[in-house]
Amino acid sequence: MTSIPRDDALADEFAVPEDVEPVVDRVLTFIEEEVLPFEEEHAEHVGGPLDYLDDEGRMTPEARALRDEIEERAGEAGVYALHMPEEVGGGGLSPVKHFYVQEAVFRYGTGFGSSLARAVMAWTEGPSPMLTHLDDDQRAEWLDPLVDGTESACICITEPNAGSDVTAIETEARRDGDEWVIDGHKRYITNAVYADTAQVLARTDQADGTEGMAMFLVDTDNPGYEVGRMNENIMMDGITADVHLEDCRVGDDQLVGEIGDGLPLALTWVNWRRACRPGMCVGMGRYLLDRMLSYAKERETFGEPIGSNQAIQWPIAETATEIHAVRNMATTMLAEYEGMADLADLRQPEAARRRLSMLKYYPEDRLFDWSDRAIQVLGGYGLMRAGGVERVFRVARNLRIPAGTTEVQKRTIARTLGLE
Ligand SMILES: Cc1cc2nc3c(=O)[nH]c(=O)nc-3n(C[C@H](O)[C@H](O)[C@H](O)COP(=O)(O)OP(=O)(O)OC[C@H]3O[C@@H](n4cnc5c(N)ncnc54)[C@H](O)[C@@H]3O)c2cc1C
Repeated sequence: MTSIPRDDALADEFAVPEDVEPVVDRVLTFIEEEVLPFEEEHAEHVGGPLDYLDDEGRMTPEARALRDEIEERAGEAGVYALHMPEEVGGGGLSPVKHFYVQEAVFRYGTGFGSSLARAVMAWTEGPSPMLTHLDDDQRAEWLDPLVDGTESACICITEPNAGSDVTAIETEARRDGDEWVIDGHKRYITNAVYADTAQVLARTDQADGTEGMAMFLVDTDNPGYEVGRMNENIMMDGITADVHLEDCRVGDDQLVGEIGDGLPLALTWVNWRRACRPGMCVGMGRYLLDRMLSYAKERETFGEPIGSNQAIQWPIAETATEIHAVRNMATTMLAEYEGMADLADLRQPEAARRRLSMLKYYPEDRLFDWSDRAIQVLGGYGLMRAGGVERVFRVARNLRIPAGTTEVQKRTIARTLGLE
């Protein structure tokens, strides 16, 4: 079950600016009053480790329905899409303000994987700044249900032969009369299993290379959209799978922006995820810090609390220090980013791209170390599912790959510093 393990010594450690406090409080109140009792009520589906998965590693429809309900209720309460602009029905929070909301939500850890608390806030399956490039009619059909949490989406960029190098995608969209016919094979697609809308990057027959790439919106009820084999992974999320597009016919009104915008649109989606990483990492880091601190005070060996040993004190001291460092880095650099670019911009200045890459890789790197330390401090219990820490370790290990690997971030940082 989801909980925040609070240690009094950390009560006033990480301040939230006064102007953001009301929205953070609103989200936390929603979690405490709506999500936690709901999770308890439906404990048979989400209460224990792996309860949310079926025998094939797929999230059960029951667990998914619970998540859907939380997303919808969060939408009604106006806390689901806080990162989206107000003109499309979102909360209009800037990336730096949204950082504090994410930090607060991810402080609940990850539960056992059902992550109902996390469903309060639009995540990869929710609306992204990429979709602000839709016209009004398209917004009504595709974006509004994502913003109000009644539907969910997946993003289909990666393929068996194209991961870090997105320009290598082979999925094709060819013109047939007044329709587009999409054929291709996508891989590692989060929420492929339950999405209502697939956002599909394809190369069209209208121009060569990236000039011909386009982003399409595909209704997952389309007979040409088929979920392939499950991609069972380290996080055991139960929603990541291959997607096959076969003779998948869509209209012009399912094109996001223009032909040729495909790659920059895909990157706006990816940039949004990069900007979200520091809040996730600091939130989970604080969860781990609380867990380590309280366990170090409670657990005794040789007649003393384990926390009386320097060997246990130091990883905790280092984690507390590094969380401050990452938190300050995040809020400073996100504010700098806001002065340079908007997450919806199709063209991002080099200094903005560099900041997003730094904001992605460094917090993830630290979270990985924090979660490793937390396992060590908790000993055998740290490796048990019941300890509530090993899953953060698995999530932390995962984060360093999707939305651009650590190496790809460092490559961008180096390139924008003039190293080609
Ligand atoms: C759990 C999970 C969920 C995902 N969800 C989605 C999703 O919803 N939608 C989607 O489209 N994709 C998704 N992905 C795919 C993800 O974005 C890719 O896995 C990622 O971009 C890396 O691509 P790859 O796995 O093909 O690795 P590769 O590109 O094959 O890279 C392999 C290794 O080589 C390194 N490398 C590659 N090129 C260079 C270089 N030039 N310099 C230095 N090192 C390099 C990489 O860093 C990596 O270490 C998901 C992946 C995972 C694991």
